[in-house]
This record gives sequence, structure tokens and C-alpha cells, in this order.
Amino acid sequence: MLKAVRGFKDLLPEEASVWAYLESRAREILARYGFSEIRIPVLERTELFARSIGETTDIVEKEMYTFVDRNGESLTLRPEATAGVVRAFIEHGLHTRPKPLKLFTIGPMFRHERPQRGRLRQFHQIDVEVFGAASPGTDAELVALALEILGAGGAEGLRLEVNSLGCPECRRPYREKLREFLLARRDRLCEDCQRRAERNPLRALDCKKENCQAEYREAPELPDFLCETCRGHYEEFKTYLQEAGLSFVENPRLVRGLDYYTRTIFEIKAPGLGAQDTVAAGGRYDGLVSALGGPETPAVGFAIGMERWLLIARPPESLRLPPELFIAPLGDEARRWAFQLAFALRKKGLRVETDYEGRSLKALLRQANRLSAERVLILGEEELQRRKVLIKDLATGDQMFLPFEDLRDLVNRILIEMRF
Ligand SMILES: [Zn+2]
Ligand SMILES: [Zn+2]
Repeated sequence: MLKAVRGFKDLLPEEASVWAYLESRAREILARYGFSEIRIPVLERTELFARSIGETTDIVEKEMYTFVDRNGESLTLRPEATAGVVRAFIEHGLHTRPKPLKLFTIGPMFRHERPQRGRLRQFHQIDVEVFGAASPGTDAELVALALEILGAGGAEGLRLEVNSLGCPECRRPYREKLREFLLARRDRLCEDCQRRAERNPLRALDCKKENCQAEYREAPELPDFLCETCRGHYEEFKTYLQEAGLSFVENPRLVRGLDYYTRTIFEIKAPGLGAQDTVAAGGRYDGLVSALGGPETPAVGFAIGMERWLLIARPPESLRLPPELFIAPLGDEARRWAFQLAFALRKKGLRVETDYEGRSLKALLRQANRLSAERVLILGEEELQRRKVLIKDLATGDQMFLPFEDLRDLVNRILIEMRF
């Protein structure tokens, strides 16, 4: 038997309907915050990710789905969305549009990691980006937006963690201090962290190994190294959150798995998710647009992980509305009538179900009950000849015969009978 590839998952109807519900709630809120959708390809040149996410990050070093296509070009299935959105922003000259430019995109991302609960190799994100806004007010607005979207899906007990990664100016001396710190206890760190110590010390702080995390409790902290401008930005960001009553925890060891972040970063974590507890994360990336060849453009964004949101969401009990009418046809002619009747009533906006398999009346009624249909309309050969049908309310048991002349008359009578 052929099965789906490891880390790639089918969404069966029950799950897909929750998914669609969450997406629609997100779209509704994004519209209220003034965001427009952008749709970009899942495939990009490998170089885009190497240059944006960073050559020495875990993502680029060992998690990307990279292959050489038939033209000999190195391509990669996107491991995240920001790089592609920035590429599109530059390519289409979107910087000439009024600022801030608020964009979102929803879709699959791909990373070759060990699959576990809440983490798949094809996973999905709602990705939100604002271009051309430098002030911390936008950072705070995005945090509020992320919390509102997650809350709309019924997520509770969310924990907001914030930090500032500073700018290249203040990060340089910090990186040096951190490197010294890591090298001094090199033997006690995992192999990955030993490597990171030299090449990308900040990455070490993100290590998932407990031993390493224990060592890092004493590590120098970035907020102590912030330059005046970065400190001011961070303070103002926190003031916005405080004044809006959005509680947060400062986590000075919070770093993200991507090199392009500057200043504000944040993560929203959910209880009960175990190690993979980050449902939304993001931050500012003021240098990325220019690093990829565009004009100097401050920018900030975040992404919500759909799979994890799904684990903590509390959608309404029933997302699928039951049929308002089930047509139970008996006999060939009745089935042709049922087809036309269902067609006409659905066009009028009614949820209608019927059956063409020639089942018995008993089986048809069972089917209507299984679908939780509100009413059933019985259409037999005899009824057709006598130009009347039987409508039965399945909740109350009330029933009535409905006389009719032709199909249009029958449609109208049903609509009146159902008080439409
Ligand atoms: Zn700075
Ligand atoms: Zn480590």
C-alpha cells in the first residue's frame, strides 16, 4: 500500500473543516487590521534562503528540501515565508506603494526535521508582514494582532515572551562576549553548540538540549548590550504592551532560528503543547530588504503555526450545517424529479441532500436521520401521479401533504412552507 511521505499529512474532512474555520477567523481579523493577501510560490532559488535566513542556521544547514532541477538550478521548497514575501516586495517594486504596506500569506512550508506532535515536514503558517514601519508601535500592534487571532480560535492561557536582538552595532560586542563564554565551557556543550560557538554563537542559546540550557543560565544577556537607540525602541515597545494590558515575560535568552531579525522579537507559547509549544513567533527585520537588494525598508512580521494552533483551538461544536431538506425519491421518475428539485432549491440557497441509489424508504429515512436533516420530503411514484408530496419535520414529527402543479410551483411551495 502506498502511504503519504513521512512528515507529510492528510487533513481529513473533520480536521479540514476546523482548519478552514480558523483560517476564516484569521482572515476576518487581518482585514480589520488593514492587511491584504499576497500569494507567492512555494519554490524559490536556494540562494534566497541562504542569504536571508543565514548560511549557518539549522534551517539552511540541515533542514531544507533542496534539489537541482532539470535546468541544473538549485531550488528549495520554502522553509518559511518571509524571504519569499521580501523577494516579491522587491521584484514588484512594492516599496513605491503607500507605507506601511501590510501583507499576509497562508500556505505550506517545508523543513526536513524529525516529525513529532505539532511538527511536520510540510507544515502551514499564516504569515504576516508590515513593510515601511520603523516605530515600536507597529511591533506592539503585531503582537496584539497575533494574540487576537489565536484567541479567536479559542486558544487560552497564552504566554507572550519578548526580547530585543539589537542592531548589528550593539550585537557585535555581545556576540563576542557570548563567544568567549561558550568557548570557556566548550567541553560541556553538545556538538552542535560547540560548532555554533565559533560560527554563530547566538544560535547556541536556542539549543533544545537540557545540558546546554543549564550552562546558558549564566550566559551574558543581549538586553544588557543594547545601544541607546535599540534600548529606547525596546522600552517603548514594552510600554505599548503594558498600557494595552497585554501581559508579557521578558526572556533575555530568546533568539529566533533565523539571522535576519533585529531589535524586537517575540514568541507566543501555549500550555500543554510540550517541547513544541511556540504557536506564533516573529520580530523585526530592518536589514533584510536591503540585504536582498531592495531599498532600505524597515519591516516587522510574525507567523502562526497552523498545526499547533489546531491543537489548542476550540472551534464551535458543529462547523458543518445539516441539510435543511432531504429529498427521498422512490422510483426512477421520482429520482429525476429529485435531481431537478434539489438543483432548483440549492440555487435558491437551501441546503438540500438527496439520493440516487434506489434505496428503500426505510434506508432513505435512516440516511436523513444520520445527516441530521431538518425535514424530509418523500417523493414516490404515486405522489408524483397525484401531484403532491409529503413533507415531514424530523424534529417535531409534524407532517403535511403539499399539492403542486409543476416543478416551479413545487419549489415555490416548499420555500413558502419552510418560511423562506
Ligand atoms: Zn543597537
Ligand atoms: Zn547545545
